[in-house]
Amino acid sequence: MATVLITGGAGFLGSHLCDRFLAEGWEVIAMDSFLTGTPDNLAHLFGQSRFRFIKYDVTQYIFVPGPIDLVLHFACPASPVDYLRYKIHTMKVDSLGTLHTLGLAKAKGARYLLASTSEIYGDPEVHPQPETYWGHVNPIGPRSVYDEAKRFSEALSMAYYHTHGVDVRIARIFNVYGERMRMNDGRAIPTFIVQALRQEPITVYGDGTQTRSFCEVSDLVDGVYRLATRPGLAGEVVNLGNPEEYTIIELAQTVKQLAGSSSKIVFQPLPADDPKRRRPDIAKAERLLGWQPVVGLREGLERTIAYFRRKLEET
Ligand code: UDP
Repeated sequence: MATVLITGGAGFLGSHLCDRFLAEGWEVIAMDSFLTGTPDNLAHLFGQSRFRFIKYDVTQYIFVPGPIDLVLHFACPASPVDYLRYKIHTMKVDSLGTLHTLGLAKAKGARYLLASTSEIYGDPEVHPQPETYWGHVNPIGPRSVYDEAKRFSEALSMAYYHTHGVDVRIARIFNVYGERMRMNDGRAIPTFIVQALRQEPITVYGDGTQTRSFCEVSDLVDGVYRLATRPGLAGEVVNLGNPEEYTIIELAQTVKQLAGSSSKIVFQPLPADDPKRRRPDIAKAERLLGWQPVVGLREGLERTIAYFRRKLEET
């Protein structure tokens, strides 16, 4: 029986990964400090025999008894609102937290998968972004607490691979959405959906011509599962995301229409260093993992709108 440790296990992506690894027969240890994660995301798993939860902050030295075969480092505030609120802690999670989880993987002889991000490409001058692109990042801009920290995490992971032979894999994750996102996490999709369902103005930043490529969470989890479990991928970095690219104004209009909302679309100032475009080149994921997303934006948004509708009725 194989055991996986998932840091950030109570978060949006982490909790879906707990579900997937349990469904595949793994022993799952979830670790989370609840800084931005919530026990609600794991409530359905407490009491299951192959599931354990440890409330812990990965910026502290980590000790976990017993064997571990795979470490997934998914702890980290990931929405701009969160990481701008917890600037230094975000940097600690992706420096000390990455160091401690890599050290744990080394000590246990475990494979290691780092949750990196499309943010490491910054405001890209190459479009779409392949893994070979080095990025265009402002090292002292507001987003640097996140993107530079993730760049450091990637460098440290590769150092553990080259120095200690740890089987490290890096997933560069582009925008993901779906059930269990927090209503108030500040990102475009949950914000627009909640605004549309409440018939409040939908707040588009800038002129809305900036683009993003949105991946539904079940597709992303499948990509991570493949990257984590396939043999022979030590030292590989792979983009995971949906290459369908939309402007933010198109996103706002689609959400409004699918939610059957009469909300107005209003324009607010664009945050500093907001990337103008972002779209993954997923040729490498297709080649190495046989993976590509199958859920289109409208279908994924319908599921997500239904989820937020239920959440709003509960509150
Ligand atoms: N955005 C927006 N209105 C909002 C929240 C976000 O127009 O209420 C924009 C944001 O400026 C960015 C895009 O939507 O251009 C995606 O933002 P998000 O925070 O979801 O992801 P990220 O910027 O990290 O890709």
